[in-house]
Amino acid sequence: MNKFEQLGLNESLLKAILDLGFENPSEVQEKAIPLLLEKDTDMVALAQTGTGKTAAFGFPLIQKIDADNRNTQALVLSPTRELCLQITNELKNYSKYEKGINVVAVYGGASITEQAREIKRGAQIIVATPGRMQDMINRGLVNIKNIDYCVLDEADEMLNMGFYEDIVSILSDTPEEKSTWLFSATMPAEVARIAKQFMAEPLEITVGTKNSGSATVSHEFYLVNARDRYEALKRLADANPDIFSVVFCRTKRDTQAVAEKLIEDGYSAAALHGDLSQAQRDGVMKSFRGRQIQMLVATDVAARGIDVDNVTHVVNYQLPDEVETYNHRSGRTGRAGKLGTSIVIVTKSELRKISAIERIIKQKFEEKTIPSGIEICEIQLLHLANKIKDTEVDHEIDNYLPAIGNIVRSLITVAEIFESCENAKPWRRKKKKTAKYLIAYLSALKVIKLFKIFCSLSIIIRKLTKII
Ligand code: AMP
Repeated sequence: MNKFEQLGLNESLLKAILDLGFENPSEVQEKAIPLLLEKDTDMVALAQTGTGKTAAFGFPLIQKIDADNRNTQALVLSPTRELCLQITNELKNYSKYEKGINVVAVYGGASITEQAREIKRGAQIIVATPGRMQDMINRGLVNIKNIDYCVLDEADEMLNMGFYEDIVSILSDTPEEKSTWLFSATMPAEVARIAKQFMAEPLEITVGTKNSGSATVSHEFYLVNARDRYEALKRLADANPDIFSVVFCRTKRDTQAVAEKLIEDGYSAAALHGDLSQAQRDGVMKSFRGRQIQMLVATDVAARGIDVDNVTHVVNYQLPDEVETYNHRSGRTGRAGKLGTSIVIVTKSELRKISAIERIIKQKFEEKTIPSGIEICEIQLLHLANKIKDTEVDHEIDNYLPAIGNIVRSLITVAEIFESCENAKPWRRKKKKTAKYLIAYLSALKVIKLFKIFCSLSIIIRKLTKII
């Protein structure tokens, strides 16, 4: 019996889980799923984003829905359109072997008539953003008066975004005897208020400690002069050639300006903020998810609900006003058990904020220094060399390999000559000083030459593979 079976999930869900490639339940799943399956209960689950909480409520929800009944039985509220679509997709994946379950996404910026039509066709589960949901209720396009389950996902985010009134109004439109499952990364007073007002003796589960940061994220800060902030960002990007990051700025203007400067300077970057149209934001997110963009420069509001796996770094180009916002930012990395780094570029006058954050997240920051030009050169060179070493050569370019091999052999000879020069014991020579200078000169030449050859080789191989 695998671990998911032990949680009490049925055959069709187990089959879908196999397709998803989940081997073991995450902590929040292990804690929440048996409780939610066992009885109809209210629940407050404190878990960071990226801990697998969608499945923690999604699996039991799918199992409990009556597929033969076309009425709306569950409502999932989520803070943003992106998260709403993501949850909808996940629920569809979970229920792919369960015949007759319909999941419909309801969010702003898309046709309300089309969404109403989809609901009319029979949607047992509606996943919605609060604003659009309220709108649909007001227009009588949806009936949630008989639902059995209501999930509030990222409740703290929804309240941060000012959805308190909408949430209260939507919940008031649902029956009292339903089960409410509230998921939140933190437990600020407003979330506790909602829980108190709308839930009856909820079971409480906690993954990690309340309001604390994720254990998979390490925190670093770099102290710089205010005028060097942008240069520091570039150095950090250079020092991490495989960076896949979200860079947070405080204002839309800064976000746009930083992204534009990065693009001008040859980095793979894009801006995400509220002044972009929905289509532009969707385009940026698509490129980011597809990894065509390495640095997504975003405002806090626009980046809410960004759940992209494998983000290696979160960069706080400027610190947020609220410490809790820092927690949300850093939660964009270190997801699904992977390790991540949250970097803060900070000036002397902002240093006290670091200690305030440390107290809340209950984790220490490591102070680091911006890497020097030489250190970056070394990192980039080694990265390039490794990239060439790891390049999988397509057999269709076999014909060109002897010629490439000749270049590489001559490179090795050059390198060996330099190597032997370096290893020669200068004190055995008469002209000790001259030999030392010569070695230094040759070493420099070696680095430049190796670098040039590496560059050309990587370009040639890339070109050949593309052409063929
Ligand atoms: P969530 O916190 O629900 O946004 O999940 C974060 C990521 O973890 C998503 O990409 C999920 O597909 C993935 N995930 C969720 N549960 C598991 C699991 N048990 N094993 C592996 N990956 C998982």
